[in-house]
Amino acid sequence: MRPISKAIRIQTERTNEGEHATPLFLTSSFCFDNAEDMRAAFADETDDNIYSRFSNPNSQEFVDKMCALEGAESGYATASGMSAVFASFMALLKKGDHLIACKSIFGSTHTIISKYLPKYGIEYTYVDAAKPEEWEASIQANTKMIYLETPTNPGLDIIDLSIVGSLAQKHKLILNVDNCFATPIAQRPIEYGAHLVTHSATKWIDGQGRVLGGVIVGRRDLIKEIYLFCRSSGPALSPFNAWVLSKSLETLDVRMERHAANALYIAQKLENHAKINWLKYPFLNSHPSYNVAIKQMNNGGGIVCFELKGGIESGRKFLDGLKMLSLTANLGDTRSIASHPASTTHAKLSEEERLATNITGGLIRISVGLEHKDDILNDILTALEFC
Ligand SMILES: *Cc1c(COP(=O)(O)O)cnc(C)c1O
Repeated sequence: MRPISKAIRIQTERTNEGEHATPLFLTSSFCFDNAEDMRAAFADETDDNIYSRFSNPNSQEFVDKMCALEGAESGYATASGMSAVFASFMALLKKGDHLIACKSIFGSTHTIISKYLPKYGIEYTYVDAAKPEEWEASIQANTKMIYLETPTNPGLDIIDLSIVGSLAQKHKLILNVDNCFATPIAQRPIEYGAHLVTHSATKWIDGQGRVLGGVIVGRRDLIKEIYLFCRSSGPALSPFNAWVLSKSLETLDVRMERHAANALYIAQKLENHAKINWLKYPFLNSHPSYNVAIKQMNNGGGIVCFELKGGIESGRKFLDGLKMLSLTANLGDTRSIASHPASTTHAKLSEEERLATNITGGLIRISVGLEHKDDILNDILTALEFC
């Protein structure tokens, strides 16, 4: 079976009830028939579930589907994307290690890397997403991991995975890729040499704005370390959220195809709009890394960003001019969402810090939903008249 069929057909073994859809295993722990079975499970001699902080059938089904989609050996599901990112660092890095990460990165990931890792004696260097060929120069004797997002949030920079994959192989570094924006439907980093792929399942994987979740998949020995860290520290995904997310994976392929088609349409229609300085979408040939995007991605994803000519004030007017698009702190929903980083997520940064991460006052990010493409476009066009 192909990965997208596996995402539909992988299923927890049927119970005696003969159910078609997987039941919800809302249980904290699991029973044993006798002392010997229980001993063997605790000794890791069997795969039996013991306690839902360690494993649960709903989480395992979700993980198995994610492994099929990403082409990974093994995985572990977490309560949020951030707990997946954090666990991948804490389980594999130690005092004295060095991490290389791309500069434009999700805000909370930046906080972990720059504020918390140094508390544990882990050093880091940020590198320019657009110039992966320069990353080799920042490798030190104690460098252990390269961490990146592509496309990046919110800047939509594209990083050449084959360049970074070869670099990781040459210097024996762990390559850890946050594949949240692309999803495995558009991009499979393991094929380019990534050893770990982390996800916020809260976004496109759920796709309907309902639950938080995260997952890490990749090389078996690395996942084993991450599992052991999580099993003791407790960021396990709830069985209910796992059940929701596993069902969501059955439609990920069809949803992403439509999200990407709608996004490309919106991007093409707005690209030369009089109120816009520039617009970025990975599958428009005006994107600075268009050639890399079409090489490593099957579609351009569901996010479009652009800069309003009128700066921060125009950004506020744009949000207030929208009638249909939601103003909310999420992305990857059936419903289109607009956000204005300069007045919200990045409002606490100084002008200088914002510009260093390319968050200009007029930057708008659209998470393109599944409404009719012309309804989305018309709402944006109307709001642009107020800018
Ligand atoms: C949202 C997001 C995360 C964090 O995920 P949560 O599920 O919100 O914890 C990490 N990386 C990227 C790229 C994201 O967009």
